[in-house]
Order: sequence, then structure tokens, then C-alpha cells
Amino acid sequence: MVLADLGRKITLALRSLSNATIINDDVINSMLKEICAALLEADVNIKLVKQLRENVKSAIVLEEMASGMNKRRMIQCALFKELVKLIDPGTSAWNPTKGKHNVIMMVGLQGSGKTTTCSKMAYFYQRKGWKTCLICADTYRAGAFDQLKQNATKARIPFYGSYTEMDPVVIAAEGVERFKSENFEIIIVDTSGRHKQEESLFEEMLQVSNTVQPDNIVYVMDASIGQACESQAKAFKDKVDVASVIVTKLDGHAKGGGALSAVAATKSPIIFIGTGEHIDDFEPFKTQPFISKLLGMGDIEGLFDRFNELKLDDNNEELMNKLMHGQFTIRDMYEMLQNIMKMGPFGQIIRMIPSFGIDILSKGTEQEMTTKFKKFMTIMDSMNDQELDDKDGAKLLSKQPTRIHRVARGAGVSNTDVQEMLLQYTKFSQLAKKMGGNRAFFKSGDMTKMTSQMAKMMSPKILNSMGGMAGMSGRIQSMMRAAGNTKGLMPFNM
Ligand code: GDP
Ligand code: MG
Repeated sequence: MVLADLGRKITLALRSLSNATIINDDVINSMLKEICAALLEADVNIKLVKQLRENVKSAIVLEEMASGMNKRRMIQCALFKELVKLIDPGTSAWNPTKGKHNVIMMVGLQGSGKTTTCSKMAYFYQRKGWKTCLICADTYRAGAFDQLKQNATKARIPFYGSYTEMDPVVIAAEGVERFKSENFEIIIVDTSGRHKQEESLFEEMLQVSNTVQPDNIVYVMDASIGQACESQAKAFKDKVDVASVIVTKLDGHAKGGGALSAVAATKSPIIFIGTGEHIDDFEPFKTQPFISKLLGMGDIEGLFDRFNELKLDDNNEELMNKLMHGQFTIRDMYEMLQNIMKMGPFGQIIRMIPSFGIDILSKGTEQEMTTKFKKFMTIMDSMNDQELDDKDGAKLLSKQPTRIHRVARGAGVSNTDVQEMLLQYTKFSQLAKKMGGNRAFFKSGDMTKMTSQMAKMMSPKILNSMGGMAGMSGRIQSMMRAAGNTKGLMPFNM
């Protein structure tokens, strides 16, 4: 059972509360039974599951609840808190310091995802504006340097390694020294793994660690071992000073819930999670937003972070003005698609939007959409300024079919492809006009920014499923209220 399934099952069980005419012990017991079964299926330790059940039950003594209180809401909140507790190590996670060298050393068994995770992490910090680099201190596995080099090159991250030097300690020392002298802020050292915990691995780890004096040793773990993570993490912690954990492969494995709760049991904070093979399938791990997203309730903080990363504020005003007047050119659409690409995988963004369902975007549709967007952009690349900046570009091109021929030839696509792109543009511009007509959306402050940014990102398909522009605005408003009222703890919206 992958994590999304776990979330879905818990959400379904919770929904039985909303459907019940009265809330009594039977309703609560049957709900808890379903939830506990789902947790066990995700390999969460039976003791932890029992504890969760007891804690929820003792938090909701029905007789003691004042009659005016919303029982459903209280039960949901109690459960939310317990789920957070399940994955909360109770210790705070390490954070790098800006303007200083932060040396991070990755350790873990072979195949756990260290090398992949090094690149993901480097890419993550680089995108946030940190001066970031990678060092390959794995001389054990053949092709290790090539793998890191390939990832680093693709993401344009400076790297260090050697084909001839066989001593990982020497490479690590040389690399760290070099990058420190070049004022790198995030220096990530990849080390070798072994198939199992062997003395030789621990010894090598210690030597590298003693030499480079890392600020943070990150233990990378594969989620597929489930609750066995607990003993493995303990064993590593005994040998080296593991400060944080990254759990990988949470996308495909049955035992994700078990892995996360087991790591929490060792009191090691999880700093990131890996959710796929792509460099972008990587998320900072925070307990509350994680549970919130798991249950389809969104992650307001994460969403704001993504918006801020985009740094769109400069052209925001201009766009707002245009939208107010219902203007939307092909060039605007180009920029919009660019922004969508910059924000990273669609699915990740969608899951941050509260009560927005986990399964709206299957991986397939996501891929399909990205491919389509890229094609649209290639088509727009073949257009001239007049076409891009016309207030109705679709009309201009349709009236003069030679333009369509020219653009299609230039982009290496068919006329039909160009027409499809124009149709999409027309839909977007209709949306812009509708938004322009409704001044209620353009009130001052973050609300406006948020709505307009979101509208910029949305494809009509997604927008429609959110109940159109009006639905989206309402949703955002309740998100903002919720964020203000409960300090990030999302209310259940069922
Ligand atoms: P290392 O031996 O610890 O360096 O592990 P690698 O980084 O070479 O990864 C081993 C395999 O796991 C590779 O095929 C990766 O693509 C894959 N992998 C790593 N992280 C993830 C993840 O989060 N999800 C999935 N599905 N695969 C991953
Ligand atoms: Mg490796």
C-alpha cells in the first residue's frame, strides 16, 4: 500500500463520521478500526497503532464533550494530532546556515538512494539560491563517479571526484578543501554503501567523517524495509553521529508509514523524503504539513514557499493590470507555461492545495500535460512578435492560414497542432476576461497575489475540477482563513 492509499483509506474512514446521523461509541470504534487496519497494512508497528487508538479514544470522551461543541471536528482534530505524533521524532531538524560552509555527508546502505538523494538535495538548495556542490567519495562501486557526474551535469551543479584515486578519504578531503576555498555554502559528500552493515563500511564512514568534519551526517534509508528502519537507524547511530535522516522511495513501497514512524521512534528527525526517481521528486519533511497532505488537506506553507521561489512579484502588477482589463496575449500564455514548468511537478503542487484530493492527477496525466505544454511552447517559439503580442492572437493566425503554415513548419509540427495550441490559448484568454469582469477577485493583499498566481498556473482541466475561478477563489479564501486561525493546522473540510 503506497502512502497515497494510506491517506485515502484514513480519509474514507473519517468520512464515515460525516455520514453518520449521530456520533456514538460504535461509530467512533468502527472508524478507528478502519484507520488502525490501514496503518498496520502500511507496516506501522502494532504497539504504535494501539497507542494511537487509545490516545484518540481518551481524547474524545463523548459524555464530557459540551453539547454545543462540534464532535466531528473534535474527533478529527484528535486523530490529526495523533497521526502527527506518530511521525514526530520530538527533536528539531538541522538547517544549513547561510553564508557559511555547510558540509553534509550522506551515509547508508548500497542502493538506498544516496547518490540520487545527493543530487536531489543539491538541486533543491541551488534552486533556493544557495551556492551548492557535490563530491563523490564512493570509490567502492564501479561507475559511482559517472553516476554522480551525470546527475550533477544535468542539473548544472559543480562536482568533484576522481577516476584514479582509490582512497575515499583523500577525495573527500580534497573536494571539501577546494569547495571551501571557493566559498561554496552547501557541500554534499556522497559516500559508498555496502549491501549490509559491515565493519569495513562503518570504518570508512568514520574516516571520511573525521577528515571532513561534516556539519550534518544524513542517513539515507529506503522506505521499503518499513519498520525495520528502527533497528537499522539505531545501528548506524551507534557507529556514527547521524544527525538527520532522509527516507527514499516513498512513492512505490508498501511500507512507507512503517518506515516514517520507525525513524521517529529513534528520535532522528527526517529532513527530506524521496518520492520518485526524478531530481524533482524530493520534498522537505515537516510533520504537520505531511499529514495534512496525506489526508488531502493541502500544505499552505509549502504552497507559499513555491510561490516565493518563483519570484514573480516584479511582473505581477503588470499581469494583474492586464487581467483586470481582460487582456491575455499568446506571450502571456508562454510565460504562464514557463511558470508552471518552473514550479516543478504538477502533482506536487496540486497536493498542496487543501481538500483537493490526492488522486486528481495520476502520473500519466501529469506526464501528458508536461509533454503538451512543451509542445505548445515550441510552437510559440516559432511565432513573431506581432503574433505573440496581438490582443487576440488566435484570431490573427486563424484569419491568415499562411501564418499557421509558417509556424507549424518552423516548429516541426502539424497545422492541427498549431490549431490545438490556439484553441487552448482562446480558453485561457476567455478565463482572463471572466476574471477581469469579477472585481471581487482583485482585492488587495496576498489574497489577490495568490489567486492570480494560481490562475496563471492552472490548466482549464484543473481549474474546472476546482469549480472554476469562483470555486478556486473560495477555496483560497478558506485556506487563508484556516492558516490564520489555526497556525497551519488545516481544518477538516468534509
Ligand atoms: P546508492 O547506492 O545509495 O547511491 O543508491 P542510488 O542513488 O544509486 O539509487 C538506487 C536506485 O534507487 C536507483 O535506481 C534510483 O533511481 C532509485 N531511487 C532513489 N531514490 C528513489 C526514490 O525516492 N523513489 C524511487 N522510486 N526510486 C529511487
Ligand atoms: Mg551511490
